[in-house]
Amino acid sequence: MSAVEGKWKIIRETEKALFLERGDGIQRWFPKSVVSGPDSNGRMEVADWFLGKEPLPPLETSDLELPAPERGEWRQGAISYSQVSTFRACPRAYYFGRIRRVPSAMRQSQFLGSAVHEALELIYDCDFDTAVPEDYLAALLRRRWNTGKAEFERGRRQLGRWDESKFSPALDQARWGVAQATGDFSVESITGRAPPGREKMMFSGDSRIGGIIDVMFTDPELITVDYKTGKAPEGGLGDDQQLQGLIYSHLVREEYDRLPDRVEFWYLGDTKVTFIPDEAKVAEVAELMHEASDTIDELREMDEGHWEARPSETACKWCDAKPWCSPYQDSISDQIGEGRGNLVRGEVLESLQPEGKRPGSVTVQTGDGELKLKGWGRPGGLLGELLPGQEVQCIDTWISRSEYSGELEGLVSDPYAIIVDGYIKAEK
Ligand code: SF4
Repeated sequence: MSAVEGKWKIIRETEKALFLERGDGIQRWFPKSVVSGPDSNGRMEVADWFLGKEPLPPLETSDLELPAPERGEWRQGAISYSQVSTFRACPRAYYFGRIRRVPSAMRQSQFLGSAVHEALELIYDCDFDTAVPEDYLAALLRRRWNTGKAEFERGRRQLGRWDESKFSPALDQARWGVAQATGDFSVESITGRAPPGREKMMFSGDSRIGGIIDVMFTDPELITVDYKTGKAPEGGLGDDQQLQGLIYSHLVREEYDRLPDRVEFWYLGDTKVTFIPDEAKVAEVAELMHEASDTIDELREMDEGHWEARPSETACKWCDAKPWCSPYQDSISDQIGEGRGNLVRGEVLESLQPEGKRPGSVTVQTGDGELKLKGWGRPGGLLGELLPGQEVQCIDTWISRSEYSGELEGLVSDPYAIIVDGYIKAEK
């Protein structure tokens, strides 16, 4: 069982089921086997897996008065950790993302991360005379969740569908973050131990390096914290997190005239991973940032060919530029196999528009035989428009065996992944 999606109270009860009402008036029968509670606060909990199978309408944003985030201005020309990380992994990816600005793919996970960050930033600014911290945390999360969902659903390039059942685990992560920062969830702790720095934008003295530090503690120790909504890496922090922690340490030293005592990564709901920055490594990384910034400035006005492409499994895995990137496409074999990341090339034999619950699909003649590719939503509509005889390639296709036919078939989730006779169909 996980956290409750809203507050539930029992309206009726039979031997095997409970009729519950949520705080916003939604009423529903649930099998007793998926409900637990009430807890000491009188709350019932409904299992996530059940809510995932039978989604509920989202909770209305509460009528609590919520604080609004205050954002500073990013200094023009300042380079961030994520930009340098992208540039180091593959300069061409930096070009596509920051210079040519190809459309970014939208994933629910990024909105979930923003919602948790914002709830953890603002919970300390709430008026607890009106409601308890639990309710404020849920309301803050829900507000950003709802705006994120609206943005996701309006997007030109969303991957997958919005999954409401992820709200409860996100709320659990936010609760964990508050408890770690304050020791517990009481009003006294939250108001008395609020971290002095939250979503703190910092720049180096020359304004060439910038970063936003999720949390800073300054008394008695100087500690930076970065929230992560994914799982902690096995085997310690990777190079990328080390780089991030060292860059933040550099920014802290510029402002506080000393390095942080510790850099912490909080894998929310899971664990903390900590390291102690040392002078030599911080100086090395500051140098590396300046070099990267200089190189990017030199390349900025140059065309695509001057930005080196470094296709590799790790660099390309989450790169949104794959549909535009010929070095990536040339590096992928035609051999398809079960799993993600396949590039399917072939001639269109027939296509079907989505209808009712049926996805859009196309059947293509590949070097290995016929293969059916399906897609829901916009990708399905685009597949259904393909014409016999057209040459098509679909990037990042997920191949699996059909439960019905036993044949391999592909799922296309990204509308920009469909390339027809050399052009990206979603751009036409
Ligand atoms: S797809 Fe790979 S090679 Fe192409 S820009 Fe992205 S990371 Fe670089």
